[in-house]
Amino acid sequence: QNPIIQATVDSVATAVGSNQITQPVAEVVDFLEYSKVGGYELLKKCISGERDVESVLKTMEDSGLRGLGGAGFPAGRKWRIVRGEKGPRLMAVNIDEGEPGTFKDRVYLEKDPHRFLEGMLIAAWAVDIQTIYIYLRDEYHGCRVMLEAELAKLKANPPIANMPEIFLRRGAGAYICGEESAMIESIEGKRGMPRLRPPYVAQVGLFGRPTLEHNFETLYWVRDILEKGGEWFTSHGRNGRKGLRSYSVSGRVKNPGVKLAPAGITIQELIDEHCGGMLDGQTFYGYLPGGASGGILPASMNDIPLDFDTLQPYGCFIGSAAVIVMSDKDTAVQAARNMMDFFKHESCGQCTPCRVGTAKAAELIKKPKWDVGLLEDLSLVMRDSSICGLGQAAPNPIDCVVKYFPHELA
Ligand code: SF4
Repeated sequence: QNPIIQATVDSVATAVGSNQITQPVAEVVDFLEYSKVGGYELLKKCISGERDVESVLKTMEDSGLRGLGGAGFPAGRKWRIVRGEKGPRLMAVNIDEGEPGTFKDRVYLEKDPHRFLEGMLIAAWAVDIQTIYIYLRDEYHGCRVMLEAELAKLKANPPIANMPEIFLRRGAGAYICGEESAMIESIEGKRGMPRLRPPYVAQVGLFGRPTLEHNFETLYWVRDILEKGGEWFTSHGRNGRKGLRSYSVSGRVKNPGVKLAPAGITIQELIDEHCGGMLDGQTFYGYLPGGASGGILPASMNDIPLDFDTLQPYGCFIGSAAVIVMSDKDTAVQAARNMMDFFKHESCGQCTPCRVGTAKAAELIKKPKWDVGLLEDLSLVMRDSSICGLGQAAPNPIDCVVKYFPHELA
């Protein structure tokens, strides 16, 4: 059983945050197997002119596929924007997967790496990319060994002529390197610190060139969408939302794991229909809809569609869809303490509101009685003046405890 899947809220920061080394990958659809069942045929059709760039861009836009690393930017629109920039263009693929509770990329990568690689090469063709850099979380040791082997097979038997050059780069365990501009700094060999924007990485990214930056899972779905059509993807969805989402579910449920489910499913539906219910003898108490940064909600708010944009009114967000379920054995205060320790540890230290704010907040919420007024002030400053999403979202767990779990502070 995977240690990440077993993680509970009590151990979010230490168990899934940064230090898990994955085992060798046992079962994988390798290059030969993938090729035998029609793999890379779609890519060949693109190169041969059977599929044209405009129709591919249109299908991607019609599908409504959004960046599944957490930012949710429409993928098709991003392809069009980067394609509109002057070449040479580069591509950076984010498999850093550092958000506590997120493990979907690893699960898909371990099973079907070439589905992702074909999607990546199709994106590279559509955007006319010269060179691709894949940034892989170094704790995913087993994945790296496997991916190096599969990339070697792909390069030895290229399905198309003039494949872009592909480099595999290793991360070094910093959560912040999952932020796109920090990842780019890291690939360039510098310390991973987020850049001020604008300019956006689509215009001035890797090595100063326009860069198409994508999360692993976004590219994983490209082949299915282009083969089955944009309407196949949008035909899924629930509670007014469209598409599919891979929820990484952990915590106090019977069957945790990656759950491919309709976008907009509620937490209650996810627990009941996909996770076999709560663990025996435990009662649903609350949940983290989007890992450490996405806030904490109480069980009474169990009917909110889980998707991009739907959680903002509640001061939360779904991000990479890392759903952590808490039971009556957990407290939101303890979860917030764990998460603030995590943010304090992972702050890159570049800007004062985040560097000092996370340390101060971690100290303040360890006290038996919270100074709510002071914490609210601190939260406002961090949100308004931190450079990147880490410092801006770090106060989410604290604000949620104050708003939704006041009985724990009484
Ligand atoms: Fe670094 Fe935090 Fe500032 Fe982001 S908000 S740049 S992580 S110090």
